[in-house]
Amino acid sequence: MESSVLEEKVFHKVMKNVPFGLVVSSEGRKRKVYYANTMAYHMLGYTREEFIEKVQDGWSRFVDIDLRTVMREHHEEILTGESFELTAQTETKDGNKKWLSFRVMISMDVISSQLKPVSYITITDVTEKVEKNRRYAREREYLRDCAARDSMTRLFNRGTMEERIKEELESMEEGQYYAYIAIDLDNFKQINDVYGHWVGDRVILGISNILREVYGNNARIGRMGGDEFAVFLPDVKDRARIQSQADEVLRRLRGQKEMIGMANEPTASIGIAFGPEDGTSFRELYHRADEALYQVKKEEKNSIAIYTMI
Ligand code: GH3
Ligand code: MG
Repeated sequence: MESSVLEEKVFHKVMKNVPFGLVVSSEGRKRKVYYANTMAYHMLGYTREEFIEKVQDGWSRFVDIDLRTVMREHHEEILTGESFELTAQTETKDGNKKWLSFRVMISMDVISSQLKPVSYITITDVTEKVEKNRRYAREREYLRDCAARDSMTRLFNRGTMEERIKEELESMEEGQYYAYIAIDLDNFKQINDVYGHWVGDRVILGISNILREVYGNNARIGRMGGDEFAVFLPDVKDRARIQSQADEVLRRLRGQKEMIGMANEPTASIGIAFGPEDGTSFRELYHRADEALYQVKKEEKNSIAIYTMI
């Protein structure tokens, strides 16, 4: 047997059994498929003819890739004939989503006595791997989130609050004003004693939701421990608004009496420190707001004090 015929036979036998698809085609607008092995079209559930037609129509018609971006990102490899890899999603003939990894090499070859760019593409089904990685990423994200939050209220825990506030303070701009608000439920031990822990927990959840509603997404809101909460507002334009928001928190909390099932209104006390004048570090802000809070607790619970005014 002539050696080139033998080589061709070996090639076909091998290509029939390899665990990846191989597609050799011309590059450019009118793509012509010179070769596609069985795995290339079986992988997606197509017949050979269907698959070839799709490839000739252009990869970006049936695989979720933007060829222009690919060309731009792999410009160098394309010029030098080196191979590069990309992963993209596609659908099988019966509509299932699959992730495919493509290793692409484009080289100038003589085809029908003309020098033409030819692409050699091997395709591997990486669906399981991609999905597994995504699952891990989701689990990691979930665990990170659990570690950052208080499990009962889902507010940030003390450690996260400290970390986030420090980050915010480091990136403060000249002339930016901020506020640290400390909130502590009044006579909470007594609430637990009189109504039981279950009612106590409802008060904690009640104030958590109120803080979320009143301060929204721009605030960092945390449960610093027990019945102590904190809100950090990184960009304060209007101090009167801080006062009125704090009033609103206390008003809404008192309004939860019936819903929570208490004979008396639940109340809290609030201490506020404004930055930069009351503090430029987490520690300073925390202590100043706490001092203001302490004054409120001593003099008149269910009210608000601002550090600079005590
Ligand atoms: P003050 O008005 O001076 O703040 O008095 P207080 O009774 O609220 O005193 P303090 O803030 O020291 O009390 C906190 C109490 O919160 C003590 C603890 O038993 C209770 N506590 C802490 N965590 C929880 C919780 O998750 N659920 C319930 N129900 N109670 C909690
Ligand atoms: Mg308390």
